[in-house]
Amino acid sequence: MDSAKKTDEKENLLAKVVSLCKRRGFVYPGSEIYGGLANTFDYGPLGTEILRNIKSDWWTTFVSKRQDIYGIDGGIILNRKVWEASGHTESFIDVLAECKKCHLRHQLDKLPKDVKTCPDCGGELTKARKFNPMFKTFVGPLQNEDATTYLRPETAQAIFTNFNNILNSFSPKLPFGIAQIGKAFRNEITLGKFIFRTLEFEQMEIEYFIQEKDWQKYFDRWKKAIWDWAISLGIKKESLRWRNHEKEELAHYSKKTEDLEFNFGGEYRELYGLAYRTDFDLRNHSRFSGKKLVYREEGKTGFYPHVVEPSFGVNRTFLAILYDAYNQEKDRLVLKLNPKVSPYKIAVFPLLANKENLVKKAVQIYGELSREFTTAFDGIGNIGKRYRRQDEIGTPWCITVDFQTIENETVTVRDRDTMKQERVAISRLENYFKKAMAAS
Ligand code: ATP
Repeated sequence: MDSAKKTDEKENLLAKVVSLCKRRGFVYPGSEIYGGLANTFDYGPLGTEILRNIKSDWWTTFVSKRQDIYGIDGGIILNRKVWEASGHTESFIDVLAECKKCHLRHQLDKLPKDVKTCPDCGGELTKARKFNPMFKTFVGPLQNEDATTYLRPETAQAIFTNFNNILNSFSPKLPFGIAQIGKAFRNEITLGKFIFRTLEFEQMEIEYFIQEKDWQKYFDRWKKAIWDWAISLGIKKESLRWRNHEKEELAHYSKKTEDLEFNFGGEYRELYGLAYRTDFDLRNHSRFSGKKLVYREEGKTGFYPHVVEPSFGVNRTFLAILYDAYNQEKDRLVLKLNPKVSPYKIAVFPLLANKENLVKKAVQIYGELSREFTTAFDGIGNIGKRYRRQDEIGTPWCITVDFQTIENETVTVRDRDTMKQERVAISRLENYFKKAMAAS
């Protein structure tokens, strides 16, 4: 495929996803009524449901169902010494250059190595400038150097600073992990990437503590676990690939990193990262804090465990899911979302909105199902339009209450992907959907 065609395809799909997100209440531009704020977005009712589903599935998979992983919820604002010890104050650096013609700023390490001109307009680039993307803030009434700290640029550090607390409260044995989901903040300057690159975003991270000799084994295990989880959410394996970081590209704390990349409309970009952080963080926090963050088995000398870190982005997961689910068919637009992540699992309709007995029955079924599943109710327009509306937001099953329902207590259940309809007894609905959800 020639490169112009590839760029078209990429921009087309992104534009379509952005437009659907805005129109149907998944994602809105941030501060829109004030003209917006670059690289910020707000999630609407449907987007919020998807974010919740992603985070909840991650937590169930990696924390609740595992005896070796402990979940925490650490602070966003930490003592600034944390960032000195972690190396972020000094080494968390982006290199940027501005186009002299269109004035767009580019992060140089995100451009292909041989690019010397602006990728958007071909203009000349200014000299590279270094810049630290952490957001500075002040704690207390004085705004001076001593009061300065940062909004966290990653969730990992509160995990390391709580290492001894977890050892003291739970006495875990190696290998074990500490997990966290939460917001992180970076002063991103590259524009126009929708929710792929934003000023605030959510991470789901695990620091998995191991013996040094085992690092390769656990690196490989996590590689598989990350891949399997992405697939379980409905991301297609053809859209994914692993990319190993070159030596010069490695973050200051890492001895080996691989990114799981997703094909965003013809361009592979980082979805998740997997890094072998050695004992860098525990060792440095021990040095800076004066508190020994070591693991000790009874009768043996303590040591710094090594760390393998799988790092997942909630928002990039969201975007990848939408890209792979987006299907423009001949007569309809359908989001083929895995039911696990779809905003609504079921929609309930009365066949005719002006027939009181049908509406009453539909409301009753909605009330019962919504205790168990996120359920929508729609009584507007004709049935065909309601199906199209639910297809567009990825609702896997639609229930219609019709005249036969009043006679024999059955409804039609229509499947989003096959568009087939079947008659199901109302008393069986809950089990029917539980089984269908379990199979997805
Ligand atoms: P990139 O190279 O794309 O800037 P990164 O290597 O800096 O990403 P990490 O520090 O490895 O990212 O962060 C872990 C995960 O957090 C990423 O894989 C991504 O899913 C997510 N993430 C990082 N920065 C952002 C951002 N600005 N907006 C949305 N998600 C982000």
